[in-house]
Amino acid sequence: MTTEQSAAAHTGTDVVLEARGVTKHFPVRRTGGDVLARRRRTVHAVDDVSLKLRRGTVTALVGESGSGKSTVARLLARLYPLTAGEIQLGGEAVGAGRGRSFRTYVKQVQLIFQDPFASLNPVHTVRYHLTRALKIHGRAGDGDADLQKSLAALLERVQLTPPHQFLDKFPHELSGGQRQRVAIARALGADPQVLLADEPVSMLDVSIRLGVLNLLRDLKERLHLAILYITHDIASARYFADTTLVMYAGRIVEGGDSETVTQHPAHPYTQLLIASAPDPDRVADEEAQEEAGSGEPPSLITPPDGCRFHPRCPKAMERCRTEPPPRFDLADGQWAACWLYDGAEGQEAGK
Ligand code: SF4
Repeated sequence: MTTEQSAAAHTGTDVVLEARGVTKHFPVRRTGGDVLARRRRTVHAVDDVSLKLRRGTVTALVGESGSGKSTVARLLARLYPLTAGEIQLGGEAVGAGRGRSFRTYVKQVQLIFQDPFASLNPVHTVRYHLTRALKIHGRAGDGDADLQKSLAALLERVQLTPPHQFLDKFPHELSGGQRQRVAIARALGADPQVLLADEPVSMLDVSIRLGVLNLLRDLKERLHLAILYITHDIASARYFADTTLVMYAGRIVEGGDSETVTQHPAHPYTQLLIASAPDPDRVADEEAQEEAGSGEPPSLITPPDGCRFHPRCPKAMERCRTEPPPRFDLADGQWAACWLYDGAEGQEAGK
C-alpha cells in the first residue's frame, strides 16, 4: 500500500500526537550572585500545555514572540526534555531517552524550521539533503534506480518540477520559497505522520507565502498529515488551519475551530491579537484596540500571579490577579481560560 493509499484509509479525526500538561522551565544561568537565588530563577517558557494533533488536520498555535509557541514545537520534536507532562504518539507515552525509540519517533514527527536557509547546509546540493534523509530513514530503496525515483517523487510532491532542474542546485541558487519546499521535501523523506511547522512562511516574501501554505494544505489532504502550524499571524490561521489555539505567556488561553476563534474571539488576549492584525476588510478602529488592551508581554522569569494577562487586560477583575483561570467550555467546541466565562461573569460576558 502506498503512503497516499494508507493515508486515505484514515478518517481524518484520529489523534496522532498528543501533549498532556506539557511544561518546560529553563534555568536562568547567571554568573556571580547568590547560588541559592540562581537556582530558584527559571524561565516558565511553557506551562501545562495540552493539545491534540489529528490526522488530516492543521492545528494553528498562535501568539506573540516569546509566548512559548516555538518551545512547544521543540518539545513535541523532543529537542528538549520535558519539565513535566507527557507526550503520546499513537496513544502511547513517549519515553525521555535518545535511543532507538527516539529514532522511531523522529521518523514519525518531523520539524520544519522558520529559516530554510539556515536549516539547509550551504555546501551541499538538494540531492545530498534529500538522499541523506531517505537513507537515514531507510527509504532509499535497493539501488540507484530506486533512489532516483524516490528523489524525483519527493521534489514532485513539493511541486519543484521538473526534478532534474533542482536536484543539483545549492541552497543559494534557490529562492526562499524553493528552499522552504526543499526543507519540506526533506521532512517528507522520513514519511512522517506529523509535521511541526515553526513559522514556516514568516521569513518568506509575502508574495510566495500563500504558495507554501497551499502546499502544506495539499500535503495535509493528500497524505493525511497532522500539521502543527506555529504562527504569530492569526489571520493566516483562519485561512489555513482547522483548529486554532492561542498562546499567551507560556499558556494556551483559548481554542476552538479556526473560524469561530478568529471571528468570535472569546478571550480578551485573542481579541487584542485580532484587533492588532492588519485586515483590509476592517477599517482601523483605534477604540476597539484600546478596549482590547495594550502593553508588553510579561517576564516569564516572574510571570504575573493569577491570569498572566491581567496586567494588560481591560476587563481584569480582582480575582484575576490571584487565581489562574481554568478552561471554560463555550458553544461549538470553543473554550477560553478566562474568569469572564465563569457563572455570573460568564452571563455578563455573553451579553
Ligand atoms: Fe482578563 Fe481576567 Fe479574563 Fe484574564 S481572566 S483575560 S484578566 S478577564
